[in-house]
Amino acid sequence: MAGNFSRVKINFYGGAGSVTGANFLLEEDNGIKILFDCGLVQGAKDDPINTGAFPYDPSKIDYLIVSHAHIDHIGRIPKLVKDGFRGRILSTPPTREISEIMLIDSLGILGKEAKYEKRDPIYNEDDVNRAMTFWDEGIPYHKEFKIGNFRVTFKDSGHILGSTITELIYNGKKIVYTGDLGNSPSVLLRDTEAITDADYLIMESVYGDRNHESHNVSRDMLEDAIENTVRANGVLMIPAFSIEKTQEILFEINKMMEESRIPLVKVFLDSPLAIKVTDIYKKYKSYFNDSAMREYAFHPEEGIFAFPQLLRTLKTEESVAIKNYSNPKIIIAGSGMSNGGRILHHEKNYLPDKRSTLLVTGYQSVGTLGRLMQEGAKKVRIMGEEVQVKASIVSITGYSGHKGSDGLLDFVTHTADTVKKVFVVLGEPKSSLFLVQKIRDNLAIDASAPAYGESCYLD
Ligand SMILES: [Zn+2]
Repeated sequence: MAGNFSRVKINFYGGAGSVTGANFLLEEDNGIKILFDCGLVQGAKDDPINTGAFPYDPSKIDYLIVSHAHIDHIGRIPKLVKDGFRGRILSTPPTREISEIMLIDSLGILGKEAKYEKRDPIYNEDDVNRAMTFWDEGIPYHKEFKIGNFRVTFKDSGHILGSTITELIYNGKKIVYTGDLGNSPSVLLRDTEAITDADYLIMESVYGDRNHESHNVSRDMLEDAIENTVRANGVLMIPAFSIEKTQEILFEINKMMEESRIPLVKVFLDSPLAIKVTDIYKKYKSYFNDSAMREYAFHPEEGIFAFPQLLRTLKTEESVAIKNYSNPKIIIAGSGMSNGGRILHHEKNYLPDKRSTLLVTGYQSVGTLGRLMQEGAKKVRIMGEEVQVKASIVSITGYSGHKGSDGLLDFVTHTADTVKKVFVVLGEPKSSLFLVQKIRDNLAIDASAPAYGESCYLD
């Protein structure tokens, strides 16, 4: 019933004091319970947040709003359903579609982990399929819908295809959950939409304490890495995130080849997941920014993510056969943090080769192989074997899908006149606390980095 308002509380049940495991519960006293995201904690093995019971009764949750299809935002949804959730799941159409293949893909890794730790996997394929039956068809950006007394609108966060900022209006107050905020301008996506008139902000802070190099610098570094690899007759390994970064890198390499800026070298897209996600990107080109859409118009047939030198290796035997192709070559394979996936095989083969290069393109969680190599490890363990690292390790940050520190502050600035409190989440503590201080110092706004399990009334 309209006008029947009570107090509203936000609870921080994941992604508080950490980048991954997003899980926030917004609840009316004696009323509706809305969960924002239900992600997996990544990097740490056997994390009790992943394997243990939820800190609330899943059967009492009415709605789950999913900001985007990254596994640290969706990876525990099938477990939520297994543990009793019977509400509705809401997101944009691409988020729904990408999430389904991400969740199916995660079964293999979760199964392996469970076997290693001698326990049951946290969910199985039936749970994923059941979760999809609770997932509504998809709500586009800017179409307001109602959840009880909440008026809800999705805005474009510019992070990955279909990613949202959720605005909720309750009793005249605007509550905003940012999900992850894109590093605009992006190669493919539209810019993050500005948020105004917010009263409460729950915002990400992955890069709360540092800025990225510009996109142009990263593009030049990518170009250099390709040229150097060809010159040295080596292998360029790009551990790529299946969503967004893979498509951006394909788009860039395609352009560089068309403009004759790099030699026509063989490129392997060696990730069944990234191949499937790329096909979804092709379906939703209306979500792209103007310049990417214009490019698309020039490539009506095979699109902007395909070119003659590109080989999509879907089958395992095709992946294994990559080593039979002579150098130089470029291999794009998951996972982006080298904590699983086909990239491990290539790293085992080519890290000991000083002619080769590993190009790190995004955030590397603490505890992942990618992080170790980024920090300069000379010896690493891959699939039980010790591997010498003689290849060059190059990190580029301009393709990051996340706003840097200044971009995050800018985002708050647009709504600085009205905002009463900023909850800084989804960052390592050092990063979140830095942003908290920056918001207080620059904008004189109340900000804090809540700890896991903390809650706060919004009134
Ligand atoms: Zn994300």
